[in-house]
Amino acid sequence: MSVVGLIAAGGSGERLGADGPKAFVVLAGRPMVEWSYDVLAGVCDSVVVAVPAGQEGDGPGYVAGGPCRSDSVRRALHAAPQATVAVVHDAARPLVTSELVRSCIEGLEGVDGAVAAAPVSDTVKETDGERMVTRTLDRASLWAVQTPQVFRADALRRALDVDDAVLAAATDDSSLVEASGGAVRLVEAPRENFKVTTALDLRLAEAILADRC
Ligand code: C5P
Repeated sequence: MSVVGLIAAGGSGERLGADGPKAFVVLAGRPMVEWSYDVLAGVCDSVVVAVPAGQEGDGPGYVAGGPCRSDSVRRALHAAPQATVAVVHDAARPLVTSELVRSCIEGLEGVDGAVAAAPVSDTVKETDGERMVTRTLDRASLWAVQTPQVFRADALRRALDVDDAVLAAATDDSSLVEASGGAVRLVEAPRENFKVTTALDLRLAEAILADRC
């Protein structure tokens, strides 16, 4: 078994309002991506990071990302033909822990994907184009999905072998694995493993990391 970590760090991160790509914003003293890199490197046999095109340098382990998130993941996976298990993780979730990565890997037993997720605490409604409520969903069965998302590498390769437009529409990789017929299980994850999207998230992540050190 070869477990390969694939870190999606190829986004521009415009919503954060930083000067450069989000994954390289300094967070608690180091580029954000390094927090996830260290955790994945401690659990996986190797790690490939997809970074914005032109920033990959000459060293091994870094590849140019694509125009959308799942394309970046596809490029990283392509650079790891030896992988039998793929641990996909967003650089934008720097608070990931080795315990969570291990739980997801263990959760892969008997399925194609095991995905970190937290139960939804807000009530979620569907609306039409006029923002009128069309439906209130049953919160008891809803989960907010995170990364890490761990897959049998072959199932992920198959799922990512789709048109660019399908990749661009996907907001995570497990939806592609589900669409290709794969069985996906959720692994309960702490809310603390949130995605850094705004400047407020960045401050919160700084405070939590400072607390951990
Ligand atoms: O934009 P969003 O926060 O959803 O991005 C999630 C993750 O996907 C980030 O870590 C980002 O760097 C990565 N990404 C990527 N390639 C892209 C777009 C986003 O690797 N083209």
